[in-house]
Amino acid sequence: MPCLVGVSHYAGWMPGLYKDEGVVLSTIKLGEADRILTIFTRDNGKVRAVAKGVRKTKSRWGGRLEPFTRVDLLVYRGRNLDTITAADIIEAHPGLRTDYVKLTSAAALAELVDKISPDRERSGATYDLLLAGLAAIHDGKGTSVVPAFLVKLLSLSGFHPSLQVCAGCGDTRALEAFSPAMGGVVCLGCWEEDGSAMRLGADRILLMARMLSLDFGSPADEEAVVDVTNSLRRYAEYHIERPLRSLQLLAI
Ligand SMILES: [Zn+2]
Repeated sequence: MPCLVGVSHYAGWMPGLYKDEGVVLSTIKLGEADRILTIFTRDNGKVRAVAKGVRKTKSRWGGRLEPFTRVDLLVYRGRNLDTITAADIIEAHPGLRTDYVKLTSAAALAELVDKISPDRERSGATYDLLLAGLAAIHDGKGTSVVPAFLVKLLSLSGFHPSLQVCAGCGDTRALEAFSPAMGGVVCLGCWEEDGSAMRLGADRILLMARMLSLDFGSPADEEAVVDVTNSLRRYAEYHIERPLRSLQLLAI
């Protein structure tokens, strides 16, 4: 296998090769010189692929496949793992790595897409959302980007939370609690019946609905952002049945 080259310089073509673009979500070491990458691609959804020799030739190629980097890719489809054959940077997003808040926020977005999106399921909307979320963090649009990203991603991924009517009984009055198990906001009557539901003020519920419907970066009270983030994290963890560690690490 040749070491990693640019997409435009790749001369060979063989069955099983596909061209795509994607954002690197995470990388782990494999053996002496290789890495396994998780990439969310525009046309093939979430894929896991080996980048061979990438650590041996780090100065030349490694920077192309750092987390959050948007890349053009040539990939060879394998039975379990694909293999990256060529890569070119579209957008390196270096600004996301220079600042602790931006780095932890970008890492949260990457973990959310990794854990909530199924393997190899194409979703152009998720891809566009990921690009928009990273751009908003890059532009310093504040701590509300992560929970806004989460509620948008949940909605796109089949986990849409009820935010306008009680998820338990359909009532529109006394919506002052949030229940992961029932599927969103609940009235006080339903809250009493669900021991895992949490109280959540009407202003927090309104903020959650605004985060779902508006673009990133609308101003929000910091304490309200914390409450909404924690509520959505519990909701997501309940439905995907996995912890979301990077959300727990956010400086909130
Ligand atoms: Zn109810």
